[in-house]
Amino acid sequence: MARQKKCRICKQEGFIHLRYANLPLCKKHFISRTESVVQSTINKFRMFSKKDRLLVAVSGGKDSLALWHIIEKLGFKADGLHIDLELGEFSKLSREISEQFSKTHRFYLNVISVKEELGGYIDDFVKIAYEKPCSLCGTVKRYILNKFAYENGYDVLLTGHNLDDETARLLGNLLIWDKDYVYRQYPVLPAEAKMVKKVKPLVFISRNELLAYCDAEHIEYVKITCPHSTGARSLVMVDILDQLENRYPATKLRFLKGFFKIRNLFESEREVNLYECHECGMTTTSEKLCRFCRIKNRIKDKNAAKNF
Ligand code: SF4
Ligand code: ZN
Ligand code: ZN
Repeated sequence: MARQKKCRICKQEGFIHLRYANLPLCKKHFISRTESVVQSTINKFRMFSKKDRLLVAVSGGKDSLALWHIIEKLGFKADGLHIDLELGEFSKLSREISEQFSKTHRFYLNVISVKEELGGYIDDFVKIAYEKPCSLCGTVKRYILNKFAYENGYDVLLTGHNLDDETARLLGNLLIWDKDYVYRQYPVLPAEAKMVKKVKPLVFISRNELLAYCDAEHIEYVKITCPHSTGARSLVMVDILDQLENRYPATKLRFLKGFFKIRNLFESEREVNLYECHECGMTTTSEKLCRFCRIKNRIKDKNAAKNF
């Protein structure tokens, strides 16, 4: 997104050129446009209202901090939850930045340590289970976020997934034609049993717009990446979509918006049975233990074997 000289609206100095809309904007109009896109996404998908208790998943990255900032600017009140993944320097910095952000903005942030919840480190489990770190980390994060929101009476859990995340995931799911995964990819997942409602208000905002928004609003975020982020399949999808977007601006938005229009075609007749986990009582699709408790038990067994 190259800088343009004049803002289309006020003719002042340009801050950004949104190629997908062929729209040069000054800082002020870029900020207000970004916030109004988020507001209209919230309205369109009936994500939440001012009566709801909101919880933002705060990683310390640009997306979650921008989301929290925007939500509050739009007049909503939201608490944050940061999960300390204990993945070395990356996690240390992520926690520090999240705490600093909440302090300066006077927002309320909860912090949960993954080691305390799981009884071990993600990296330990990766070694014993030969699992991909991101799949394991994803399960652990989703579980902790949902459980915390449910047990503390929050109505809606907000995550900072952006246009690039969502289009990369959609492309990945379509390449394997997994009907259920494709269908579940939506900016709103309703509450069900002990699963709280989940929403993604940034689905129509790109990574580059979020970077520019953080710059314009002076939001400090974590700039180093997780040691496990290299080699992830989703990064390949992001790269492919970036190439398409460079060549054909607005590809990502059209891809995602077009999918939402025909998403019902992917609805499955298969009923999904929900159970309560025998150990933690949270909602799960397996008859005995949820995946989180299975992971926790394997870590427990490993630790017991070590002390034997
Ligand atoms: Fe977790 Fe993978 Fe993200 Fe690292 S890159 S924080 S392991 S999901
Ligand atoms: Zn302007
Ligand atoms: Zn469980």
